[in-house]
Amino acid sequence: MNLSSHLEHPVFKAVAGAAAEMGVSAYIIGGYVRDIFLKRASKDIDFVTVGDGIALAGKVAHAFRGHHPVSVFRNFGTAMFHLDEMQLEFVGARRESYHPDSRKPDVLPGTLEDDQRRRDFTINALAISLNPENYGELIDPFNGVADLEAGIIRTPLGPGITFSDDPLRMMRAIRFAAQLKFTIHPETFKAISENRERISIISGERISEELNKIIMTAKPSEGFRLLDESGLLTLIFPQFVALKGAETVDGKGHKDNFYHTLEVLDRIAPNTDNLWLRWAALLHDIGKPPTRRFVPEFGWTFHGHDARGARMVPQIFRQLRLPLNEKMKYVQKLVALHLRPIGLTEEEVTDSAVRRLLFEAGDDIDDLMTLCEADITSKNREKVQRYLRNFSIVREKLREIEEKDRLRNWQPPVSGEMIMKAFNLSPGKEVGLIKNAIREAILDGALENDHEKAYAFMLEEGKRLGLFPAKDNA
Ligand code: ATP
Repeated sequence: MNLSSHLEHPVFKAVAGAAAEMGVSAYIIGGYVRDIFLKRASKDIDFVTVGDGIALAGKVAHAFRGHHPVSVFRNFGTAMFHLDEMQLEFVGARRESYHPDSRKPDVLPGTLEDDQRRRDFTINALAISLNPENYGELIDPFNGVADLEAGIIRTPLGPGITFSDDPLRMMRAIRFAAQLKFTIHPETFKAISENRERISIISGERISEELNKIIMTAKPSEGFRLLDESGLLTLIFPQFVALKGAETVDGKGHKDNFYHTLEVLDRIAPNTDNLWLRWAALLHDIGKPPTRRFVPEFGWTFHGHDARGARMVPQIFRQLRLPLNEKMKYVQKLVALHLRPIGLTEEEVTDSAVRRLLFEAGDDIDDLMTLCEADITSKNREKVQRYLRNFSIVREKLREIEEKDRLRNWQPPVSGEMIMKAFNLSPGKEVGLIKNAIREAILDGALENDHEKAYAFMLEEGKRLGLFPAKDNA
């Protein structure tokens, strides 16, 4: 098969020309070739040469006028530079041999086929020649195109070796299956199960990079199902597997929170591309296993699972090497608040309750509502519609109160500085008491969120505490 018609960009001729001058052969390899068949635009192009990849990169960069600094990674024998929005990577064809305790192989120069053999999957081992004798020709020794057409993820070598050599490939197999809606070949999948313990040599960062890609797919439950069936999930994220099960006692059961959570994740996916909101969906019920109780006259309860779940978030983020920054705090906040909007669906809910939620959620209130709407997973369509209607009433209430009281990103209308100045105080307990009293009065609806009114309230409150206004402020 000749693919020259896909090689319009001048970079391909430039690589071909540079390789010819150097007297070496060169090929496009890997994801870029795969994506031609999948009709996906790709901006990362990998080139392999049976020769010196670093030298080839330098020559190609030089052929394009302008400044294209080449990053050289001598340890890996690779070099990379950017051209327009494209990232071009060059490597010399190689053979690899692995040690049991590391995914970093010893590398020896090799042929093109050696290089294709070291690739993770047949669909990622496709190459296109850039050499004069067969320019544009597809080189597919492992039938990657047939696997692309059949939607199959399979390793070029025996899968046991492939996964044992580099266990990250197990996560990649599942990630590609989830992203492309492909099936993992049964033997390949069996080898993942068999080698699952090898995941222990992979860094948390690498694992969560793949996990995040799975979470960002259109139907993340598929990837999680594969992680679960292969036995990897319990190794990388045991707290999530603990959600499994639906015990029945005295005829009283509860839903299986593992499958419920996956359904919530699938339901939120079409509504957000925010990875962290999807993480919040994944973790919203994570506090259920440790709070599960059976109360004989009532059935199963999960009291406090919201607060407990929020407390579990930092440990999970640490374990999965996810960022311990404001992203984590955001996830924590959504997990902590995920039951609150349900409480606002009752008819007689007070403005004060709505105000308090707005105050606590701040700018994340819309994301919280998106999470709550995804959390309705009843099989009963009528019930789902009713709950969604209730939430749209809550959204309306939130909008009304926000318009009136401006509580999102609330800043106290009277600052601590102002309080200290008004009563000639130094920082201390009284300042805090007055600040709290102002905030509570606003949240209760007893005081308008307005500077003058709050200032007058502050003077009253100070008096109540036995304070005297400073003379020049009286
Ligand atoms: P994506 O951009 O979606 O991650 P990709 O396959 O294009 O997919 P890379 O991860 O950059 O992206 O990999 C480039 C190529 O390198 C792959 O197509 C594959 O041939 C090879 N490769 C990457 N990682 C591995 C690995 N762990 N083991 C073997 N080959 C790999």
